[in-house]
Amino acid sequence: MNIIVCLKQVPGTNDVRLDPETGSLIREGVPSIINPEDRNALEKALLLREEHGGNVVVISMGPPQAEVALRDALAIGADEAILLCDKAFAGADTLATSFTLGSAIKKLGHFDLVLCGTKTLDGNTGQVGPQLAELLDLPQITYARRVEIQGEILKAERVFEEGYELMETRLPALVTVTREINEPRIPSIDQIMQSYREKEVKTWGAAYLGLYEHSVGLDGSATKMSKIYKPEFGKGKVEFIEGSMEDMAQGLLAKLKERNLI
Ligand SMILES: Cc1cc2nc3c(=O)[nH]c(=O)nc-3n(C[C@H](O)[C@H](O)[C@H](O)COP(=O)(O)OP(=O)(O)OC[C@H]3O[C@@H](n4cnc5c(N)ncnc54)[C@H](O)[C@@H]3O)c2cc1C
Repeated sequence: MNIIVCLKQVPGTNDVRLDPETGSLIREGVPSIINPEDRNALEKALLLREEHGGNVVVISMGPPQAEVALRDALAIGADEAILLCDKAFAGADTLATSFTLGSAIKKLGHFDLVLCGTKTLDGNTGQVGPQLAELLDLPQITYARRVEIQGEILKAERVFEEGYELMETRLPALVTVTREINEPRIPSIDQIMQSYREKEVKTWGAAYLGLYEHSVGLDGSATKMSKIYKPEFGKGKVEFIEGSMEDMAQGLLAKLKERNLI
């Protein structure tokens, strides 16, 4: 079974600064991590490989420093790592990101399953998985908290607010996973050192993928960010509601209704 995991490097902190001119993230000096749900996607890929055999390839589109996330993925157990890195990819919206990831997946050739996180900690749109499935003409199951494969059939539990649905699809397919799906393994120091000493992260650019500069990055983006606003948090008045549990609950309800919050 050949599994591809799409993995994004994201800031590992809430203290993220934005460039007021371009609206893009200032990554310098910010500690970075693998997007948490992408670690769950990688863990699922490794568990499926243990069960069915095969190969796990991790792909990330990002700046040169995203190589660290891919080295971590190799240390965790991925077989191959590909960094899609090119100045032409900068400023990509979700469509341009999906297009670039999709082009790399097509270049890889045969695969049975593409796994993504449901959404990222930073961009948080949840659009890349579904767009990628459309671009690759694959059936998709999003928000999966359980995935198993029997022969050519993938079965999944898809979470929604009131419960979950049982879904099935034929392979190849694309699935986006939630954090509930598993507990990702942690690599040992030896595995991390080995990933730097003995393993390779391939770097592919636009020319290697046969992509024109106007179809990727900012030029290939269908959306343009006109301005970014930071939320302003004012300090509100703190009020304590006294009484029994029921009095406090009723009091809170009345206050929320008074302010049209419910
Ligand atoms: C006009 C515009 C300009 C932008 N410019 C910049 C910019 O200059 N710099 C910047 O950092 N961001 C920029 N962004 C944000 C950028 O579009 C998103 O970071 C990117 O498209 C991914 O979207 P997301 O984080 O919402 O992913 P989601 O859709 O929430 O991610 C879902 C899943 O898709 C996969 N995935 C997502 N992104 C990647 C990736 N890069 N590589 C591999 N897998 C991935 C992961 O599995 C992830 O869990 C810009 C956005 C717009 C609209």
